[in-house]
Amino acid sequence: MRKKLIIVAIIFLLIDCALITIKLNQPSRVKPIHKPKPNYKYSVFLTSDDGPLVGSRYLNQLILDYEVPITLFLVGRNIVADPKLEPMFKSYTENPYVILANHSYSHANNRYKRFYKNSQNVVSDFLLSESTLNITSHFARFPGRNIWILSDHLQKSDDSNALKAARKLHEKYGYKIFGWDYELRHNGRGKILKTAMEHYNNIKRMLKEGKTYTKNQIVVLMHDQMFTSEKTQKIVGKLILLLQDDNECKLKLLSEYKTE
Ligand SMILES: [Zn+2]
Repeated sequence: MRKKLIIVAIIFLLIDCALITIKLNQPSRVKPIHKPKPNYKYSVFLTSDDGPLVGSRYLNQLILDYEVPITLFLVGRNIVADPKLEPMFKSYTENPYVILANHSYSHANNRYKRFYKNSQNVVSDFLLSESTLNITSHFARFPGRNIWILSDHLQKSDDSNALKAARKLHEKYGYKIFGWDYELRHNGRGKILKTAMEHYNNIKRMLKEGKTYTKNQIVVLMHDQMFTSEKTQKIVGKLILLLQDDNECKLKLLSEYKTE
């Protein structure tokens, strides 16, 4: 009887050790900081352009790990041109922390000046992306142009042709067109150029000095292809933690952007 009990105890001990080993071998997930911020002053809107691309897989995982709201400006033609990107797009549609927004169908074929000369084509291009990707948000970002059209009063552009097309999209189809205040630049191969702390300090400085398009709100631009770089994933992760930990800053989706 005693012998039997000892054997059972040993078996339980072995199972326990095995379970601990399994636990230790699991990849460590990030512990998100979701603390209440009753006195926050600044709204930070993270956005990423040009998806779905290969980097979207990593960005999607980062969004889930950090439980961070990010508005995604997508290019319709990407999934038509490369069906391998379809699963990336699907994972975006299933991600509860994102809003899908419109970054045109063709991305102007990267020939911006020519593209913006014909405003009707620009509008048709955006509408094609909307139907291809089933985008319902009516938020747009113009490829290669930092244009804002949020209301009849809030309009800003660096290109009069593009502005004409943007106005049409806004007035006829109810789109809000978002530019950006600050970009997390990369070196062309995805690697972010500055540290998380430098970006965090720049974002805070711009907000404090009122150097954003509207007061106390900052739109941050990223690009999906950046996230193929592990270094970029780490830096953006750190930046998100810094912002989540800051009582003055709240991360939001563009649907919460104040235009009044
Ligand atoms: Zn783009």
